[in-house]
Amino acid sequence: MTTINETQIQQVQSRLGAEPFRLFIDGQWCEASAGKTFAVSNPSTGEQLATVAEGDASDIDRAVRAARKAFRSGPWADMSFGARSALLHKLADAIMANVDELAIIESLDSGNTITSIQHVDIPMSVGNLRANAGWVGKVAGDSTAAPVSANTVHFTLKQPVGVCGLITPWNAPFLMVLNKMGTALAAGCTVVIKPAELAPLSALRLMELVAEVGIPAGVVNLVTGMGGVAGQALVDHPDVNKISFTGSTRVGRSILQGAASNMKRVTLELGGKSPIFVFSDADLDAAAAAIAQEVCFKSGQFCAAGTRLFVHDSIHDALVDKVAAVMREIKPAPGTSPTSRMGPIISENQLRRVEHYVAEGQQQGARLVLGGKRAEGSGWFFEPTVLTDVTPAMSIHNDEIFGPVLSVLRFSDEQDYDALADLANATEYGLAAKIWTRSLAHAHAMARRIDAGLISVNGGGKTDAPRPFGGFKQSGIGREGGLEGIMAYMETKTVSMSY
Ligand code: NAP
Ligand code: MG
Repeated sequence: MTTINETQIQQVQSRLGAEPFRLFIDGQWCEASAGKTFAVSNPSTGEQLATVAEGDASDIDRAVRAARKAFRSGPWADMSFGARSALLHKLADAIMANVDELAIIESLDSGNTITSIQHVDIPMSVGNLRANAGWVGKVAGDSTAAPVSANTVHFTLKQPVGVCGLITPWNAPFLMVLNKMGTALAAGCTVVIKPAELAPLSALRLMELVAEVGIPAGVVNLVTGMGGVAGQALVDHPDVNKISFTGSTRVGRSILQGAASNMKRVTLELGGKSPIFVFSDADLDAAAAAIAQEVCFKSGQFCAAGTRLFVHDSIHDALVDKVAAVMREIKPAPGTSPTSRMGPIISENQLRRVEHYVAEGQQQGARLVLGGKRAEGSGWFFEPTVLTDVTPAMSIHNDEIFGPVLSVLRFSDEQDYDALADLANATEYGLAAKIWTRSLAHAHAMARRIDAGLISVNGGGKTDAPRPFGGFKQSGIGREGGLEGIMAYMETKTVSMSY
């Protein structure tokens, strides 16, 4: 991992624009059967970056057939646990050997900062890949001792669920694809990936590495295309056993309906509107720095970001000043700039959505403390934004904005945990919650009461320890990561044998 210079960026960019990217099916690069393509652009400049094949239902069908064949027989189906694990480690090595190039590709394509991709997204997802490689062969069944006189033995087998459709969003494109793919492969499944149309390029580069390290043909397939066409075809396909989806709650709901056709297993990682509680005894400097950085991480396009800030009356003004002071120093700049701490919003549409919410919040009575408008530059930049005097009825408080926007509310009774939890839980979402306090009583009382899959106290959670990730309520179904994550790609078979 090095500091990347302008020449490297130019070289990667000219390679991306050189010729259209194709689909990766059964170990081969191929055109979309209808011959269609679409343009992908750089959100830091608004310019076209590359042309990509636009697959449809027939391409998905080809990919599913290849995945089924590789699942049933051949080198992947016959591979020993040791060899499978080694292959995943080999892929991890290959990714790290190309980390700078991958970070440039992803930064150009998604707008996320090069440094965050180099230092967070790629190492974290490679860590998860290695953790998944470690699970291979260790997720085992068990047996039940029936009375000896019964002449019967019961045991369970853990078997891979089969062909998995992996559908991913644009906000952390590489990490999302690799986390899902690594878990599915560790379990012994085969996959068809449909990456986000707005940022598919790092996943396409990953397919080259998949081929290079020798993952057998058909085990990993990737079909770029539109969600409503290629994604929907994967969801509807009768020979797909599982869909793992990360994206919006709206699309998640339609996936659940589509999956019902053949009872596909589903893992859904959806939206969030996570609360942050800062109690009067908190370390305000640490809280302010963490809150500000999190709201600006990926320009606020981060599902688990804390965006509803509840602050105790006694420290409200001091904390808001501190948060605003940190956010004021975060200037939006192209993700590929080595000093950029916050890139653009992914698209013009998404930028308009953020603008709309901030304007509506002010119309409804919120007070703008910082930002609130587009930032300079030819791309889709928005300034870090803080709004106070927010009430629970406002749309900025209730809807997932997916921009660098923090809304602030007050609370007065810090012992009334039920009332505080009611504030936290008054949302359709339940992905994450953050608590800042030195009091064990506050921390435990709130952690128990908030309906969310991920609770962080005093910034805890920034380690690579494998742990389950996912949400309550309409933030999703199931968990990714850790033992639960790999079990979600397996079926349990009970064998009862009489003798
Ligand atoms: P999205 O619109 O739901 O799209 C996600 C993926 O689904 C894309 O690949 C999309 O294709 C595809 N898709 C769209 N319609 C489909 C359909 N009818 N059938 C099958 N697939 C379909 O979400 P997004 O705007 O890319 O991402 C932002 C959302 O993701 C936010 O709500 C955010 O909170 C959530 N998110 C959640 C997590 C988490 O772990 N909980 C992590 C990151 C993001 P196209 O690209 O062609 O539209
Ligand atoms: Mg792009």
